[in-house]
Parts: sequence; structure tokens; C-alpha cells
Amino acid sequence: MSKPEEEKWKKICKSKEERPKVQEYKNWTELPPIPISLPLDGSMGRTGDWRTFRPVINTSECNKCGICWMYCPEGVIQKNEDGDYEIDLEYCKGCGICATECPTKNIEMKRESEM
Ligand code: SF4
Ligand code: SF4
Repeated sequence: MSKPEEEKWKKICKSKEERPKVQEYKNWTELPPIPISLPLDGSMGRTGDWRTFRPVINTSECNKCGICWMYCPEGVIQKNEDGDYEIDLEYCKGCGICATECPTKNIEMKRESEM
């Protein structure tokens, strides 16, 4: 990260009182560093067994905007080596937020029983 960019983020994140009331970002690359939660290791964090709906990304139509990655509350969407977004189904809880937020509607929530 370049120096002016570093300064910009420091200013934005400095303190709650100094933050602008509204921050608008064109896409996730403009976001300041934010804490994210990751799934617990081991069986405690595994939610794949009780999920009712499974998100399925249509990679051929995905524009790789990263919005699903940004919104997933579990931090289980990752970019693979080919640049495609993948969902770790061991830890995905099937909440459907990614499907709701995907601007191109390329994530379909499918019933586990039908997979
Ligand atoms: S369904 Fe929920 S937990 Fe699973 S990838 Fe989408 S946003 Fe994340
Ligand atoms: S939000 Fe939709 S279009 Fe954007 S990376 Fe995720 S699946 Fe692809």
C-alpha cells in the first residue's frame, strides 16, 4: 500500500467521532481494513451438516466483483487460483446473504435434499 493510501485509511478509521456519517464505496477494493470473523476450526464450527439450503455460484456468469465475499458473515467465500469465488461448504451455514447481495443474481440457493 502506498503512503498516501495508508494515510487515507488511517484517517477514515481513526476514531468513530471523526468518521464521515456516510461512506460510499464503489466496490470492495475501496473498503478500509475491517475485522472479519472466520469459522471455528473443527466440528464446532462445521455447519455444513445442518444447512437446509446450499449456495451455488454460477461461475460462468459471475463478474468476480467480490460482493459475496464481502457480505458473507462467516468468511467462507474465497477466491481460488483461477480468480473464481468458491464457497467452503463445510462451514457455510446457508443463510443466503451472498445470494441476496450478488448484483448479477448468480448465486442460487438450492435445497440440500435436492442436491
Ligand atoms: S449462504 Fe451465508 S454463510 Fe454461506 S456463503 Fe452465503 S453468505 Fe456465507
Ligand atoms: S457477488 Fe455474484 S457476481 Fe460478484 S463475485 Fe459473488 S457470485 Fe460473482
